[in-house]
Amino acid sequence: MVTLRQCWSGLKHLLFPGCCALCLDEHLEAGPLCLTCCGQLDLQRAEPFCPRCAAMSGPGLSPDGRCGNCRDRVYHFEGSCRVAGYDRGWQSLIRLYKFHGAEYLDQYCAELLARRVMQESWWPAVDALVPVPPHWQRRLMLKPYLAEALARDVGRRVGRPVWPLLQRIRWQRSQIGLNLQQRLENVRGAFMLRRGARVAGGTVAVVDDVMTSGATLQEVARVLKAAGASQVYNLILARAGQQQIQWQLA
Ligand SMILES: [Zn+2]
Ligand SMILES: [Zn+2]
Repeated sequence: MVTLRQCWSGLKHLLFPGCCALCLDEHLEAGPLCLTCCGQLDLQRAEPFCPRCAAMSGPGLSPDGRCGNCRDRVYHFEGSCRVAGYDRGWQSLIRLYKFHGAEYLDQYCAELLARRVMQESWWPAVDALVPVPPHWQRRLMLKPYLAEALARDVGRRVGRPVWPLLQRIRWQRSQIGLNLQQRLENVRGAFMLRRGARVAGGTVAVVDDVMTSGATLQEVARVLKAAGASQVYNLILARAGQQQIQWQLA
């Protein structure tokens, strides 16, 4: 839910660019956020994560690098990396962007994502970035779509092209309240390759803003692999933790 405070935050930052987009305090630093808020967001960036599903991992990784959440699961993607856990601060940041058109945050997020992905061992093999697309009805809102904006701005920073290979062909119901199996069924068939798109033999990184259960990215990877992609990785801004997943599934 978008709060009045978040509405005011977006408006105030536009009117007074010297105010932090999150806490509304005035600040002298370059960029949209004050040092205190940056520090709190950084706490979530410092947590180790599973290289396969990007969930917060702790010390319990198996020898093949999987965490307890994904040890018995079969994924169509090879690995994932994320900037941060999806805690309250990151939720506020992403909501500001998504619901208030706070596009000034895109540069901040894209910079963090670009720095993060260049640390991954698989990064040199990636040929292009592929954004998770919105349904065409979402485009009628004439607002930028975060996954596409991130892919464009990260691609520019890291010197990789953006391949808009996919289209979302089905308007899916909200995932909130669905269990993992229902989520997988809900997104099944939601994406297809765009006419004329080619990915055979390529290695791609799929870009999205938030990964919750992973059902959407699993379906995207399935479509890309079926089209001949050699390897698929996920590049995401924030990954929901087990607590948030349980809350969303409840
Ligand atoms: Zn602040
Ligand atoms: Zn995992």
